[in-house]
Amino acid sequence: MTAKFDFHAHLDDERLKSIGITKIINRAIKAGVDLIISNAINLKSFKENLQLSQDFPNLVKSTIGLQPLQISQDSKIDIEKIEKIVERGEFKPIAIGEIGLDFYYQDKNKKDQIEIFERQLNLAEKFNLTAIIHVRQSAAETLAIIKNHPNLKFVCHSFAENYVWAKNFLDRDGWLSFSAMITYPKNEELRQTIKKLPLDRILIESDSPALPPQSKRGQINEPSFIEETAAKLSQILNLDQNQLWTKLRQNLNQVLT
Ligand SMILES: [Zn+2]
Repeated sequence: MTAKFDFHAHLDDERLKSIGITKIINRAIKAGVDLIISNAINLKSFKENLQLSQDFPNLVKSTIGLQPLQISQDSKIDIEKIEKIVERGEFKPIAIGEIGLDFYYQDKNKKDQIEIFERQLNLAEKFNLTAIIHVRQSAAETLAIIKNHPNLKFVCHSFAENYVWAKNFLDRDGWLSFSAMITYPKNEELRQTIKKLPLDRILIESDSPALPPQSKRGQINEPSFIEETAAKLSQILNLDQNQLWTKLRQNLNQVLT
């Protein structure tokens, strides 16, 4: 059986810490997971994820980045610090993330979000690092900006847009990562969208502690729960679990090289 992985989690999150990280990690290993990409959302979160990647080498890999809803007055200073960390090679992140645009809340720092997003895309492009992108109520703007970065390698994480947007991102050579949202009964359109996608452009993630799979709604999500999302994905794609994970692993290797 090909080893499982979790392309996008937030292991530094308080909700996971309240359960106990060692417990969470052990349950993930028991479920067959051999890699968790723990996504920073700000500088403090980066430092905690970096520590986790040192505590659990090989299994946990940390990204670096500013998530759009974290953008505040301090972000101009934080983005400079992030640029320096990457430029000086003090730390080699596995990717630049979580970055992106989130316009769910009416006009929340729209201009600042765009500026910080652009700077982080420049950083990703310059250092040949994959960008892990959060897209919420912002597909058009995200796509417009990505078009200005022809050499960018990117993944839209926890993807939940329709087929037209999916196709647009794939046309820019992106990958789409799917979370347990695909297990929710109401998301039939999303499942139908996945059926139409090329198999080599798909990834899987928990986005834990958010978005628990259907049988665990109301609980704190964790990487071991990715099994249920994988079961649903294999059903959607008509592959057995081993075929699915073999394919997903090949995709992951493409994304991270
Ligand atoms: Zn996230």
